Amino acid sequence: MPVQIDFDTSYTRLPERFFARLEPRPVAAPRLIRLNGPLAEQLGLDAAWLASPEGVAMLAGNDLPEGAAALAYAGHQFGNFVPQLGDGRALLLGEVVGRDGQRRDLQLKGSGRTPFSRGGDGRAALGPVLREYIVSEAMAALGVPTTRALAAVTTGESVWRETALPGAVLTRVAASHIRVGTFQFFAARGDAEGVQLLADHAIARHYPAALAAPNPYRALLEAVVAAQAGLIAQWLLVGFIHGVMNTDNCAISGETIDYGPCAFMDAYDPATVFSSIDQASRYAYGNQPRIAQWNLTRLAETLLPLLDADQDRAVAQAQEALAGFGPIFQGAWLAGLRRKLGLLEERPEDAELAQALLTAMTENQADYTLTFRGLGAALAGEPAPRALFADPAAYDAWAERWQARLALEATDPATRLATMRAANPAFIPRNHRVEAALAAAVEREDFAPFEELLAVLTRPYEDQPGFTRYSLPPEPEERVLATFC
Ligand code: AMP
Ligand code: MG
Ligand code: MG
Repeated sequence: MPVQIDFDTSYTRLPERFFARLEPRPVAAPRLIRLNGPLAEQLGLDAAWLASPEGVAMLAGNDLPEGAAALAYAGHQFGNFVPQLGDGRALLLGEVVGRDGQRRDLQLKGSGRTPFSRGGDGRAALGPVLREYIVSEAMAALGVPTTRALAAVTTGESVWRETALPGAVLTRVAASHIRVGTFQFFAARGDAEGVQLLADHAIARHYPAALAAPNPYRALLEAVVAAQAGLIAQWLLVGFIHGVMNTDNCAISGETIDYGPCAFMDAYDPATVFSSIDQASRYAYGNQPRIAQWNLTRLAETLLPLLDADQDRAVAQAQEALAGFGPIFQGAWLAGLRRKLGLLEERPEDAELAQALLTAMTENQADYTLTFRGLGAALAGEPAPRALFADPAAYDAWAERWQARLALEATDPATRLATMRAANPAFIPRNHRVEAALAAAVEREDFAPFEELLAVLTRPYEDQPGFTRYSLPPEPEERVLATFC
């Protein structure tokens, strides 16, 4: 039976050099591990069909819709430019317009070799597929812009990653897969027409208001700068470390994309790095705003010919647009911290008060998520989170200032508490919990821990009394020191 989805794929109406059409590379024995029912519903897809043998054949890449394609892109990887990367193990099934009117990509990841695979096998292992599923869905539930996970299937085949591992395919949903690296792909070839067509496509798709601006390309750059500045602020506010902020993993839409060796912090420390491949700590938690600006500067470079015929004026315009990052990021971050602290009014001393707590947390290895959640609980009459600090007196000294600041506001206590509960999650995907869920699935074909963890993370701001263990940081022997992609 042919694929039963009404795709309307605008990207493959761009010139042929933007992508490569693909034939299926069938796998032996596709088996559906998980289907995201609510997301299917939101996209207007028939969940029953997706779960049927025909649907699963599509989700495994065995049966492809007309026009499936791997997309071309380039990128700076850890600062080094690679003129051709592209979807080496992914393919765009097509675009669908959801019930909300939003156009989204459906993409398979792990579906086999493409013209962009270079030395790779084009495949994905089950562990990383489940990691992306868990963490992207947790991010969505936390309210952070992100790609989503629609489905995970196993392939019945092994992939070789130093050892034989079960193979799997993830179906990812994204506002688009246009990256900073996509612009770089054309710019690096001197393909000015390609850059312009891509910019026009990105404007139409993501930032249609830019069309009304005096200079739509400048407005595009400003919009991407704003989206990324807001996104990185949200990452920091929930303690997320992307791990591989290469320009090919920086989405023009402003969604978080590509969950590889990503991780959430337990104890707060801006220097935190988990990724096994980030030897120089380039992508440490606290470096993320600076790196995003660096990536956006690479985007701006590709747009210079479009910004102004006079290149000096183009550079000045790009610099002005890029200068927007700092204030937008700072504003979003501080606004988020105020909500986390229960401050509904703005006072000049708030940034310093928030920073003082973060410094005390760093010096005292305090758990980031539990400390903030505990502040709200303390206002509700539960014990203060002082015991999370190596020296609880450090918390006490800060809390005295915080109480004085709270007293300056007439905010009603119920509103304050509700604000804090909605800003301070109880549940994040703790690394040790994620690793345990992956290990059970990979080593024992036991998907129950994966399902339970996912269910808890889908309601991160609710107290879930039966599941408190998922809110706790690891015991010393449970700590995950490195994550792999
Ligand atoms: P990433 O680090 O996940 O952003 O991937 C960087 C590049 O490597 C992209 O072009 C991927 O498509 C490609 N890649 C990663 N893993 C594989 C694989 N197993 N086979 C082929 N290409 C891959
Ligand atoms: Mg990538
Ligand atoms: Mg990746």
